[in-house]
Amino acid sequence: MLRMTLDTNPYAQLLLEAMKQSGCTVFNDRHFSCENCDGCVSGGFDSATSQIVLCQNNIRHQSHMNRVVTHELIHAFDHCRAHVDWFNNVKHLACSEIRAANLSGDCTLMNEIARFKFGLKGHHQACVRDRAIRSILAVRKVSKEMAEKAVNEVFDACFNDLEPFGRIPHSKTDAKRAYRDFQNRDRYNANL
Ligand SMILES: [Zn+2]
Repeated sequence: MLRMTLDTNPYAQLLLEAMKQSGCTVFNDRHFSCENCDGCVSGGFDSATSQIVLCQNNIRHQSHMNRVVTHELIHAFDHCRAHVDWFNNVKHLACSEIRAANLSGDCTLMNEIARFKFGLKGHHQACVRDRAIRSILAVRKVSKEMAEKAVNEVFDACFNDLEPFGRIPHSKTDAKRAYRDFQNRDRYNANL
């Protein structure tokens, strides 16, 4: 399933390409680790080893694998391009969780319908906020209030930071377009 994601999913392909261009080439057997995890965790990014952990006991569908790999690659991309203080600065973590929820498809319409939350305009933002808070609480011993405060403080800046997609990819078709635009952006830059 991981190989399938890396070879065919446009979200993952765009991120892998962007990582490469930022000088952080991802090697499949070095940077991914399939493990059994506690609880209902799906995956994580280990900044100490620069490895993406995939919870093989909790990922059962290809679409789930696609989303987890994309979500964690966004953390890896942020880790590559910025000096992220994952453990001491909860705002840094909040920012990357907002971006991961916004850009990975975690909050796409189909997922939301599946959760029986189909609804209003602005729901995407509410979903991103909610998931970012839950992600922080899953990995750090902070209060719900602290997590909410951190997310609120950085929300606008981080929600509007769409790198490397250049848009919110709401579907695979969007992601394919974003991938094509990203490749063309590169071509244009090469000719400057
Ligand atoms: Zn995350």
